[in-house]
Amino acid sequence: MRLDIITIFPEFFGVLDVSLLGRARRDGLLELGVHDLRQWTHDRHRTVDDTPYGGGAGMVMRPEPWGEAFDALLGPSDDGAGSDALVVFPTPAGVPFTQALARQLAAEPRIVFACGRYEGIDARVAEHVAGRARVLEVSLGDYVLNGGEVAVMAMIEAIGRLVPGVVGNPESLVEESHEAGLLEHPSYTKPQTWRGLEVPEVLRSGNHAAIAAWRHEQALERTRRVRPDLLPADEAGEGGQPSAN
Ligand code: SAM
Repeated sequence: MRLDIITIFPEFFGVLDVSLLGRARRDGLLELGVHDLRQWTHDRHRTVDDTPYGGGAGMVMRPEPWGEAFDALLGPSDDGAGSDALVVFPTPAGVPFTQALARQLAAEPRIVFACGRYEGIDARVAEHVAGRARVLEVSLGDYVLNGGEVAVMAMIEAIGRLVPGVVGNPESLVEESHEAGLLEHPSYTKPQTWRGLEVPEVLRSGNHAAIAAWRHEQALERTRRVRPDLLPADEAGEGGQPSAN
């Protein structure tokens, strides 16, 4: 899978050299290109923003450097060839990023991420790119970040670990929160007693059926308490707001 990122802060993505995704890159499972948008500016100050038409606070990213960036990464816009890449614009006004969407994106051969800053990117950019590639506007959640970089980092973490071979044991992906419908049950490791707290006895019993039943019950209880909106109607029981403990 090939990922390209266009940003005015390429240094944000240095952390993709470490941990699982760093190893995946070294193993050739993920190919990454990080591109500084300012290389496609032509003035002394390498300007990427300007005041908004219609007035209002803040600045908007000018379309010209973005146009040149996409010409460089997708091919010239006037050759009619199109591109098989999916272009993702992170924006709080996009469709929610979910585990299901991460799975869908993990099957793409190539994704280009366009990190906005300021009040966002001139709306004509996405409209123009949609003429030659598939475009998806994606939100990390119902809050506003300063820029798209953190959103893209989170998406790449979630997508990258679903690419076959990136996580050593694929079974560890199957039962996770947001995969099986419920939040995951709590997990424990050694020592058996820590600061007066015991690992639940059933997990030490060796009884696999009892362990599976306990884990399911815990997952159900946790989901009911924290995220009742995720429960199927027949499991929802007494409705209510999520609580803090
Ligand atoms: N004015 C925009 C609005 O109200 O929709 C917010 C702009 S925000 C300060 C700057 C950039 O951060 C956006 O262009 C986008 O790339 C990124 N961003 C902010 N919040 C985000 C979110 N929840 N999900 C994805 N990207 C986000």
